[in-house]
Amino acid sequence: MNFLRLDRHFGQSLELFVLIPLAAVSMSVISGVVTFHLGVPDTLQDFLKTTTLVALLVSVPMAGLAAQYDLRIRRSNEKLERLASTDPLTGLLNRRSFLSAVGDEMARMKRTGNSAAIAFVDLDRFKQLNDTFGHKFGDEVLCTLAVLLSDELRHPFDKLCRWGGEEFVVLTSNVTPDQARGIFERLRRRIENHCFESGSVHTYVTASFGAAPVSAMSDLDEAIQSADEALYAAKRGGRNRVVFTSLESDTGVWPLSA
Ligand code: GH3
Ligand code: MG
Ligand code: MG
Repeated sequence: MNFLRLDRHFGQSLELFVLIPLAAVSMSVISGVVTFHLGVPDTLQDFLKTTTLVALLVSVPMAGLAAQYDLRIRRSNEKLERLASTDPLTGLLNRRSFLSAVGDEMARMKRTGNSAAIAFVDLDRFKQLNDTFGHKFGDEVLCTLAVLLSDELRHPFDKLCRWGGEEFVVLTSNVTPDQARGIFERLRRRIENHCFESGSVHTYVTASFGAAPVSAMSDLDEAIQSADEALYAAKRGGRNRVVFTSLESDTGVWPLSA
């Protein structure tokens, strides 16, 4: 496989290696043919005409080739960027690009004075689901979950990523802590009420949420740490719930709601 890839790249480099001398040779041939037919230019005007004609005949196809190479490089750079910034299973942002997007959002919050909230979303007893219905079904659940969460958020300001495994992280922007609690509770209910189906399998899954407020002045690492601790509290508290910690001491636990 690697050998084939090396071979393809070698082939492309060889193409350039051949094309450039070919352009030089065609320039001299065209120049020779034009001179042969029109005679040696004896006035400055004729010389300029001949030179322009030769330059055009060579440069247009060369420019076409160069543009094609440039497009190829841009496309492969774009693909690399996409691969490096997204999670291959769900297509969501990966952890690295999420943190960078949140950094941008926090810079925006400094200008606008708005606040936000961050939440860990962790599927409950997901290992059991994999063991019962198979890893492939588990993968499908993760993909559907990505769509459900994404559907409920306001793009482009809210951010969503697959943090790893069956854990997702959401940043809701321009919200007060109370509004954020409402949004996370709505997400929790959306997951709880969704029937995950594949072939003959129909099942329900729940998720636990650990959330913390984020302001322009917040230390992002601290906010993430608080949300992670809140997630553990949600798990310890019985799962399928939202626990919202506040950096100011009011810690609200959302009871299981129907
Ligand atoms: P809890 O309610 O405490 O979160 O229990 P849990 O079973 O969800 O948590 P645990 O950490 O014990 O197991 C996580 C499981 O998630 C185990 C692992 O097989 C599964 N998992 C992680 N990544 C993937 C994935 O990409 N696809 C699938 N199908 N399963 C995954
Ligand atoms: Mg879990
Ligand atoms: Mg987990």
